[in-house]
Formats: sequence, structure tokens, C-alpha cells
Amino acid sequence: MIRVHDTLSREKVEVIPREPGKLSIYVCGPTVYEVPHVGHGRAAVVFDVIRRYVEWSGVDVTFVSNVTDVEDKIIARAAKEGTSESEVAQRYEAAYWDVMDRLDVGRPDHLPRATEYIEPMIELIGDLVREGHAYVVEGQGVYFDVESYDPYGELSHRKLADLLGTAGGRVEVDERKRSPVDFALWKAAKEGEPAWDSPWGKGRPGWHIECSAMSLRLLGDGFDLHGGGDDLVFPHHENERAQAEGAGHAFARYWIHNGMVMVGSEKMAKSLGNFTTLADALDAHGPRAIRLAVLQTHYRKQMELGEKELTDAASAIRGLDNLARRARVAGIDPSGAQLDDAAVGSFRAHMDDDFGTPGAAAVIFDTARWANAAIDRDDRGEAATLLATVIELAGALGLELADGDGEEGDEEIDALVAQREEARARGDYAEADRIRDQLAQRGITLEDTPTGTIWHR
Ligand SMILES: [Zn+2]
Repeated sequence: MIRVHDTLSREKVEVIPREPGKLSIYVCGPTVYEVPHVGHGRAAVVFDVIRRYVEWSGVDVTFVSNVTDVEDKIIARAAKEGTSESEVAQRYEAAYWDVMDRLDVGRPDHLPRATEYIEPMIELIGDLVREGHAYVVEGQGVYFDVESYDPYGELSHRKLADLLGTAGGRVEVDERKRSPVDFALWKAAKEGEPAWDSPWGKGRPGWHIECSAMSLRLLGDGFDLHGGGDDLVFPHHENERAQAEGAGHAFARYWIHNGMVMVGSEKMAKSLGNFTTLADALDAHGPRAIRLAVLQTHYRKQMELGEKELTDAASAIRGLDNLARRARVAGIDPSGAQLDDAAVGSFRAHMDDDFGTPGAAAVIFDTARWANAAIDRDDRGEAATLLATVIELAGALGLELADGDGEEGDEEIDALVAQREEARARGDYAEADRIRDQLAQRGITLEDTPTGTIWHR
């Protein structure tokens, strides 16, 4: 039984899926006009882990995440580079999936691109106009009439009166809109911009209508979970909800939002110029360190994801690998071993409670410590069970252990370690130290344990 903190009700609630045994998830994807930074990596890992865990629990997940391939920023970039919007979108979508593949983030079951769903967007806008929730401004496009939709503000816990106060205070209020908070559903074509035919003339969809139309088209009314970064709650998700419900559709049953990646006290963002690209972080620390670092903070909280967090996580991953390596060298085979029920139960309890990954990760590291202790005392059955549990639970979060089998140079290192053991056995400590130093220069550390010497990188 999974419980989540639902942004709309502001409470932790039990997730009761629309259909038993199935969970439908929609997560807002990237606007493809830049290379992803580590903030994108966090969001992707958060929802990848949620999807994997729910599937691991035996629930059938349908996961939809979109690509926004028509938007002001893409148009601006294309103009700046003197190229087409579709060229920009294709280039940065490819860059996005390239790093997400490296990060072991699974591809969505459906990956709708906005430009492929113009027709359902036009349909939805037409429904809103008919229902009296939208109006046409000649030469401008179609706007959503916020005051016509009573629940507006519920999701982001804002009052319309406050919003009107804020919006009215800005300089650029479009006089042709009925209210400064009304937002564009359809934007009339401007010279040189991509445009599609519609009942309101040539133009393009607003950003918010994309997600309402694509989620309803692919997952149907009343789908289960809607996710995204907490910077999307307002206005994007508030607007998505108003559009879908205003047109008579039941929308998401539960809303979950991940916290931002911060640099000092600022959000990491391209516009602030304080970002680390995800590709650079992957080059420096590898996918597993990034994944673990993300999981060590609860998804709803803000977090730093810099050098320190990634270095610490990489070191923790090496600890898990060393356990797997030790077990292999000692001839302990975890495949087919029984799992430790208590550890599995504790892991589930953490994950079922609003995807409590920090607690779940702690269970994995505790179990790894006990597995090492079992190897130390040569309790092979217990060691196999605990190691199998570590492998299973880490796998549920998308982390695989590397036991070093077949790694290049390993045989040579094994041979040097054996030579050192022989040297020690015959009392030639100078030779033993020389071999230790030689290995240390190659980044190999040795650990003398009751069952022999093990090495790690
Ligand atoms: Zn969206």
C-alpha cells in the first residue's frame, strides 16, 4: 500500500489506482533547447525510481513523459542560430536521451512530442470555448478565462484575489485579455514562427495545453499520478488542471512534486548560469553515484548535488562493489539465495511511505555491513542471503553492483596480492610492503581480513 504526499490535498494519502494492479503516471518532460543539467538528472532519477519501485512491487505501470518541442525558448534559439525550430528541438532531444540513457533512466512507455498532438490540443481548446471557459481575442489567439473556473488556485494553494493583485501590479498587462491572470491556450502566428491551422486562425498551442491534451489522450480521464518539479506547480500544473477539468475531464488523482537542485541558496538553472551539465557529472562520477546521491535526499526536499554529494555517493557505491567482489573472491554465490525478510520488509516500509528513499538506501547499506560481517566470520549461508538481499533491493532502485568479475587487469592484481601473501607468510615484510605500494600507485587499496586479503579500487 503506497502513500504519497499529494500536493492538492497537502496530505499524505493512500494511492488507490483507477484500476487495481495498474498505475498510470504522467510526468512533465523537458523543453528541448539546451543540454540537461544535474537538476534535470535529479527529476528524471526521482520518477525513474518511483516507476521502478512500483513495478518491482508487482504493479503494472504505464509511464508517459512528454517532450515540449515548440516553445518560445526553442523559437528564440533557432532564430539566434539561424536554423529551424525542429532542428533545435531534435538536436536537444537527442542530447537529452543520450545522457538519460547513460544515467540508466528508462524511456517512457509513451513519449509524446507536442508537435505530434496539435489536433487533440485544438479539440480541447474548442471544448473550453464551448463550455464558456475560453475566449478568442482577434489577432492574438485564445485565452483561458480563469475567473470562470472556481477551483482555480486549489492545487497551488493560491487565492485568485492575490493572483489578481500580483498580476495587475506588473507593467505588461495585455489590455485585450479579460483579466491579467488569463493565459494563452492558442497563440496567433507571428511572422517566421511555426504555425498550424486552427478554427481561430494559424498559430501554435500554449505550453500548458500540451500536457492536458497529451496526458488525457494517452492515459485517459482520471489517470493516477501526475508528477513534475515543484517549480511547475504554479502556473503550469494549476493551468493544466483548469484546462482539463474545465473541459469536463476528470484529471490526475494524485499530484507529486520533486524539490529543486540548489547551488547555495539559488535554484540551479540555465537562466542563472549556475548549472553543471549532466554529461560532465556523468563523466566525473558515473551514473550510479548520481543516482545514489539523488536517493539520499527525499524527493520533496531541495538538495545540493555538487562535488561533495557526488564524491560521497561514489565512495558508498565502491563500498557495495567491494562487498560483491569480496564475496566472489571467497566463492560465495548470491544467485538463488533466499532473501532476508526483515530487510526486505523494512525497505518496503520506507518506500511505501511516500517513496522514502533515504531510509530505503540506509537499509541497503546496513544489510551490506552485516553481509561483510558474515563473510568475516565465514558464515557463508548468511553472507549469501544478505548479499542477495543487497543486490535485489539496490536493483529495485536501479542500482547494479559490480563484483569486478572479468574486469581488465584483475587477474594480474590477484596475482600480485597472492605474491604479497606469500611474502608475508615467509616473513619478507619489505617485499610485502613493496607490492602494497606498487598497487597503491595504481589506486588499489588492500584490506587484510580474517579470511584473507581483499583489494578494491
Ligand atoms: Zn506539463
